[in-house]
Amino acid sequence: MMPDDDSASFAGLALRPELLAALSALGYEEPTPIQRGAIPPLLEGRDLVGQAATGTGKTAAFALPLLQRLPAQRSGAAPMAAVLLPTRELAVQVSEAIHRYGRDLGVRVLPIYGGQPIPRQMRVLERGIDVVVATPGRALDHLGRGTLRFDAVEVVVLDEADEMLDMGFAEDIEALLDAMPAERQTVLFSATLPPRVDRIARRYLRDPIRIATGREVLAKGEAPRVRQQAYVVPRAHKPAALGRILDIEAPTAAIVFCRTRDAVDQLTESLNGRGYRAEALHGGMSQDQRDRAMGRLRNGTADLVVATDVAARGLDIKQLTHVVNYDVPASTDAYVHRIGRVGRAGREGVAITLAEPREYRMLTTLERAIKLRISIEKIPTVADLRARRLELTRAALEESLLEDDLSSFRVVVESLADEFDVMAIALAAVKLAHEASGAAAAEEEIPDVTPKSGRNEDARRQPREHRRGQPQSSGMTRLFVGLGRNAGIRPQDLVGAITGESQLRGRDIGAIEIADRFSLVEVPESAADHVLAALRATTVKGRKATVRRERDRGGPVR
Ligand code: AMP
Repeated sequence: MMPDDDSASFAGLALRPELLAALSALGYEEPTPIQRGAIPPLLEGRDLVGQAATGTGKTAAFALPLLQRLPAQRSGAAPMAAVLLPTRELAVQVSEAIHRYGRDLGVRVLPIYGGQPIPRQMRVLERGIDVVVATPGRALDHLGRGTLRFDAVEVVVLDEADEMLDMGFAEDIEALLDAMPAERQTVLFSATLPPRVDRIARRYLRDPIRIATGREVLAKGEAPRVRQQAYVVPRAHKPAALGRILDIEAPTAAIVFCRTRDAVDQLTESLNGRGYRAEALHGGMSQDQRDRAMGRLRNGTADLVVATDVAARGLDIKQLTHVVNYDVPASTDAYVHRIGRVGRAGREGVAITLAEPREYRMLTTLERAIKLRISIEKIPTVADLRARRLELTRAALEESLLEDDLSSFRVVVESLADEFDVMAIALAAVKLAHEASGAAAAEEEIPDVTPKSGRNEDARRQPREHRRGQPQSSGMTRLFVGLGRNAGIRPQDLVGAITGESQLRGRDIGAIEIADRFSLVEVPESAADHVLAALRATTVKGRKATVRRERDRGGPVR
């Protein structure tokens, strides 16, 4: 079942053994499409424009070729590679990824972003680093102070270029690129390629290779009869969310796809801990083990199989009612293959995708590519779950009333009836039955981070600045931030602080108004509380700010 075709494996990509070892330790079974397309030209030193969103494996696509260049004993202080990206969250993630992939090479990588104390960054910079992963504003700051030099840079990567430009970083990026040697490799990744991204690419990249993912389309008549749904869930809440969705959906048999072997093992364990009967299926298991796992799903001993794509290849399970993508699949192709496993032979199937807030955009890309609608659902709330569980208790009682001989319990009811109302006795009995089914377990609320408005990105782009007193956009809330022009605040500082500290992306933020002593910024109402808490806990341009919902200006009552 494992692919032996060389081009489909990491070994076929001519990566150095230290990198192959790291990938294998991470449980990556095969390269994603963007990796297969980007790694060979990058290893040849070509410039590249890659259209790929988060979740496609784009980080490894640029990180592995960059690490391939690292000399055995590098002692230089100035970085030989720079990755520029829009947010602090991404900076931390990417530098962790580079660290993991380059573990055996001893790579020295440092994330640099606004909001972090400069002296700490300076100390590490002085000791010397190989790769710097930075937001443009802070990188420029260091460049100006002379604490970071770009004259040894051999490779520069612009990651999420469209986001960076949306956030107003165009000039900063140009200044940084101009400070790097002309003889360098320049790589640009972006989820979308609007003209302003293309302009940067044309100006700074030399004869770049262009690759894109997610353009494959379902063949005519191939559209499966599958209800397609997605949920937007913060990473930390994914196991609980999945459990809840499974409770409500009650699949006969389901397959849950994860990206790596480790993820498969962890999720299987967590699901079993939550009372589901789940079996793992991945390339690290013997054929015998895999056959046994599949047998248990087929004969109903297990409800769920948790699998990697490679291990699930070629499986045909008749009972399957649900396919779950625990992460957004790395390509449209993978999505289509996965959901093709349900809805066969005229049966109805359900495909469910869990997307982290940062992966939200990939859903739009998928929708466009498969030309089918994926409806965004709300995670069942604790109240939904309670209602559903009470419904199950009710059904169990009804069944017992219809089927069971209850005469031996009559004495209990009769003896209590002297003292209590029969209704009160029934209520107590229902409570005990409900609790005994394990249905009363405490559940934590999962925050609803489903973006409010539609996913038409272009229609959502709004002018950043507007005049005071304009009505706020629907579904948006205006926040007051007690720092303004006098404190040197620019729109991009607010966007940077908000995207760095919350799940929002640049495009989720509405109009921004900067006054001398304060600023007003529109954020989606659904995220307002989270943004308030996050901004209160951080600094903007190094200063603490009062942050609150803007007071009503006495306008018409809405
Ligand atoms: P990215 O698109 O770079 O944000 O990556 C998305 C996720 O996919 C990350 O969690 C990576 O660890 C994971 N990933 C990247 N490449 C692979 C691969 N070839 N196989 C499995 N997982 C991968």
